[in-house]
Amino acid sequence: MVTIQLGDTQSISKSTCIAAFVAADGPASGDVIFQSVQTAFSAFTDTALWRVKSGTSVTSIIEIESNRLPVIGIGMGSLSSVSIQNLRDWAATAAKSVQTDAAVSWIVPVLPHLNPQSVANAMAEGIVLGSYQFDRFKAEAQRHQVHHYLISSEALSATAIDQAVHGAEATNMARDLANMPPNILTPWYVVELVQQTFSGNPNVVIDVIDVQRATELGMGAFLGVAQGASVPPAILVLRYQPFQNDKPIVLIGKGVTFDSGGISIKPGRGMSDMKGDMSGAAAVLAAFTAAVRLNLGKAITAVIPMTENMPDGAAQRPGDIVTAMNGKTIEIINTDAEGRLILADALVYAAQYENPKVMVDIATLTGACSVALGDLAAGVLGNNQSTIDQLLAAGHRTGEQLWQLPLFDGYLAYLKSDYADIANASEAGKAGTSTGAKFLQQFVGEVPWVHLDIASVMKGNGKGIQPKGMSGAGARLLLDWLSVDA
Ligand SMILES: [Zn+2]
Repeated sequence: MVTIQLGDTQSISKSTCIAAFVAADGPASGDVIFQSVQTAFSAFTDTALWRVKSGTSVTSIIEIESNRLPVIGIGMGSLSSVSIQNLRDWAATAAKSVQTDAAVSWIVPVLPHLNPQSVANAMAEGIVLGSYQFDRFKAEAQRHQVHHYLISSEALSATAIDQAVHGAEATNMARDLANMPPNILTPWYVVELVQQTFSGNPNVVIDVIDVQRATELGMGAFLGVAQGASVPPAILVLRYQPFQNDKPIVLIGKGVTFDSGGISIKPGRGMSDMKGDMSGAAAVLAAFTAAVRLNLGKAITAVIPMTENMPDGAAQRPGDIVTAMNGKTIEIINTDAEGRLILADALVYAAQYENPKVMVDIATLTGACSVALGDLAAGVLGNNQSTIDQLLAAGHRTGEQLWQLPLFDGYLAYLKSDYADIANASEAGKAGTSTGAKFLQQFVGEVPWVHLDIASVMKGNGKGIQPKGMSGAGARLLLDWLSVDA
């Protein structure tokens, strides 16, 4: 359990530890804001503490008013080169090193080129993101109570800190959902979870499309994927409508709760990570939940198609032809290109029934996205440049970087089928992320639409704000965009 609040001199006397950023060129102005701390720190000025390599930390003991306190000194390198993203990562790294019940006083550095509130917000985000652990299935799980104080010589807004904490908690919620084992987190587990979360909230309406209703709606693409699974699929529709008659922002998240690849089965190595193939759904659920809690006051609808993709006697075959809800026939070339099939029907449904102002879908869609971008960015594509620009800006603010890839009409030729209107995959092996998005575009009509491919950033590397396991990618990004621009 981690809590964060603004602190003052009193907080230091209540603390069991101090954390401070130290620059190669000496303490940041205002960094050592209290005389007692300054005196104690000055003893280290000539020592290695001030020369800590950027991003790494050292622990030492300082004496403040005859109290001996451990201090974590986190290297910043040269002051002028420090970025918000650095501070978020470094705070996370230091927070990971606190492995006991503790109260930590963080000295917020004053950096001439950065806004003090943004610095404090980034630290709060880093602390919450860095403290994340998924250990609910471990007998020896250790829950530490850690209280963090942010101490600054500048006037900071507690509300802004709270919002930063909410955003980071949304990411942690998405991580929890994506890390859950697929034998437990099934489509209807999520439905029940959501029903519990929003029961009694008059502003949230929950609708569930089950197999029978999906059949009536003609969702042949979605049902084709689901037919090999032994757990029933569902499409969850959540409507947050604080004001009547506002056109909603519609978020659509891919929720494949386990992706074996189906008959086009994946190699065994790394297949357990395919529990994270519902990371898009997790991001949408987390951002939606936070938006309702924060009372953003904007109409938001979440459409979340959920199913397993399994090989089975009843499973979809390569060569099958299915008919999507808009009447388009799709030849199945590869049953592992299932995300676009369930999203196709979700997009047609959202466009026809949910009256969207704009649709943003988020999905772990293509391995090709990792080939193009590594794990440093998610792909963004769409038919509406102003929404893409807004999301690129949100990516910059949150550190969840996006990179725009093209959606040339020529990519449609890669999806030509000899037998149906379109094929679900290309065997050319070119521009996989763009081709996946081009497929989706056939199901959005004229609605402003953006597609986020988060396959590249689904899993964390354990460094900085990243955990080991699923990263919770997209949750803070979507929440930031909903708060600022949408
Ligand atoms: Zn797949």
